[in-house]
Amino acid sequence: MDRLQVCFKLLAELRKINVAIGLMEGCADIVIKRESCISASGTLRFERHIPAGRSRYPQPAGNSQRWFVRAQVFAPFCSRCVYVTFACMNAQPTSRKRIAVIPGDGIGQEVIPQAVKVIQSSGAPVELTDFDWGADRYLRDGVTVPADGFAMLGRDFDAILVGAFGDPRVKTNIHAKEILLGMRFKMDLYANVRPVRLLDAALCPLKGIEPKDIDFVVVRENTEGVYTDAGGIFKQGTPDEIATQEDINTRKGVERIIRYAFQHCERHTKLDGSPRNKVLMCDKSNAMTHAGSLWQRVFKEVSGEYPQITAQHMYVDALCMQMVRDPRQFDVIVTNNMFGDIITDLAAGLQGGLGMAASGNIHPGKTSMFEPVHGSAPPIAGKNVANPFGAILTAAMMLAHLGMTSEAEKIEAAVLEAVRQKKTTQDIGGPLGTIEAGEWVANFVSLA
Ligand code: ATP
Repeated sequence: MDRLQVCFKLLAELRKINVAIGLMEGCADIVIKRESCISASGTLRFERHIPAGRSRYPQPAGNSQRWFVRAQVFAPFCSRCVYVTFACMNAQPTSRKRIAVIPGDGIGQEVIPQAVKVIQSSGAPVELTDFDWGADRYLRDGVTVPADGFAMLGRDFDAILVGAFGDPRVKTNIHAKEILLGMRFKMDLYANVRPVRLLDAALCPLKGIEPKDIDFVVVRENTEGVYTDAGGIFKQGTPDEIATQEDINTRKGVERIIRYAFQHCERHTKLDGSPRNKVLMCDKSNAMTHAGSLWQRVFKEVSGEYPQITAQHMYVDALCMQMVRDPRQFDVIVTNNMFGDIITDLAAGLQGGLGMAASGNIHPGKTSMFEPVHGSAPPIAGKNVANPFGAILTAAMMLAHLGMTSEAEKIEAAVLEAVRQKKTTQDIGGPLGTIEAGEWVANFVSLA
């Protein structure tokens, strides 16, 4: 593709211009008059002014040129509003990102279609492939995960968007365990990243708390701890019965999750653009002394590599109290699998409930999986009342992870607007159903 063709592509696809820029690897000098941009489509809006190096999203590994270019696009517009200068060479469009979509059970089947609709309305260059893994399939043919399923996901997809698993008809919950925990463990998705952000003061049950007061992230270890199912039952059903549940903590596992938390802190800013600068490790090392000792020693060692980041510690019980007393103090929290599971439900309560919380299960450089924090919620399934915003924000998180930051920001802005205008489901005070709330956000995104 020569320079003229690149110009033409950019001008012809103005609505996707950020995507087009994202697709350029390397650079050539291309100057586009702002007037031509606007007259050619009328949909290009440089409403976000992000000075170079100040975006909320980190530079994706291996894509340094791409990120640099995008930051440069917005900066000149802030001052002169005359030219946009791209510095692009060897323009090579990259292929669309491939996403596996697994809605799963219960409200997963309702919220994921809304998230998909919103992704499509954002114009993100993705190819979506549906999978029917879940209770219905298991009850039909006994299959939880098809042979080679996890290898196929890792090989053929860039990311996975998941709903939820759990169905009262499957008493053992075996399918949920094999699919969800299988994905986390077998694909080694060791970092469960759960952002906690308050979009509107009305959503927080605490008095006097504003959106700027709650903007932290919990990094939960996702492949070890008490969820590995190590242990057993001896003399079951007798008065002498013994049950053990082992808490697995490996040096490698503890070190990589703590390092991930520091890297996340270093590379991300808060919603208002201010830098993150604190990592707090949460444990129960006063009672669980062996595992606690390992976490304490590794935290001290790794934090030494990041002198610019303040390292803090809190016992998990104290942290729960502090989260309710003063959530302003938190920035990045790193903890083990079980404590992370528990404190993120509490944290979800601060941001409007389980229906608002997003998460990513990440292994840098590998196919990662994104899912709303909530489960399949059988009592409300099939009633068109589930809040789709957690799933929609999860989709935005996934797009940002894949480098599609402008689409992610458009989606987040649309959810924020929906909350402000009360175009929401009843759990957070609005009058809409799942489908209607999803459609409102999708429309807002398509007009952005
Ligand atoms: P899991 O064990 O799979 O994490 P859970 O038992 O912790 O699931 P959920 O299935 O997440 O719990 O839901 C618990 C309750 O929270 C639901 O019954 C519902 O009342 C509420 N809830 C969860 N998600 C949503 C949502 N998206 N919209 C509205 N309410 C929700």
